[in-house]
Amino acid sequence: MSWDTDWDRLEQSSCACGNGSVVRREYSESDDWNRSRGGYYGQKIQCDDCEKKYKIEGVTKYYNAPPWKSDGIIYTEYLVPLNMTLNLDIKEERLYLNLDERIVSSFEKEQLNEIVDDMIANKYSTRLKLSDSRYVVGMYESTHKKRGLPKIIELLQGCVSRYESYQWNPLRMKERNEEERLRIEANARIIEDVISKSYKLNFKQVKEVDDI
Ligand SMILES: [Zn+2]
Repeated sequence: MSWDTDWDRLEQSSCACGNGSVVRREYSESDDWNRSRGGYYGQKIQCDDCEKKYKIEGVTKYYNAPPWKSDGIIYTEYLVPLNMTLNLDIKEERLYLNLDERIVSSFEKEQLNEIVDDMIANKYSTRLKLSDSRYVVGMYESTHKKRGLPKIIELLQGCVSRYESYQWNPLRMKERNEEERLRIEANARIIEDVISKSYKLNFKQVKEVDDI
């Protein structure tokens, strides 16, 4: 399967000082399956002064767009001072936890014991008294597509007996999420500050010599 170029065109923006320019190429290509992809390449600062002070960096912003609009992505490029960067991580780092790890990260050991007691006493998932118990059944069901209590009780008893060996309990998880939130906020503030010291490029398509 090969990709065919639909277009590949030159774009130009003024530079920060106004005496030169910045260029890039935008391309779009598609294949026999009607898939398409595209992007930019060949960014270059064509100004002696700005080249000594800046580099080109891009920021991708995602937003919620209605389905009939575009795909909700805006890509903006800037001339960024050489000693700064916009490439800071502002995505929450995802934790990939197994079901037992997620259960331990959500409940104190004492709560797990209460859930086990509830399940043993009431025997059926439809008769459970505690909302925590029903929540655990839901977690189990979304992973295993079953909701029989004996297996869930077995799992919970394992969680209780090894509780101290788990990395994430509710307290540590709360602390971790708070640290993660602060880290992302700090990086977002730095990015805002760097953008305020950068020059936003405004590319427009330009005619190439070959076109004439
Ligand atoms: Zn310049």
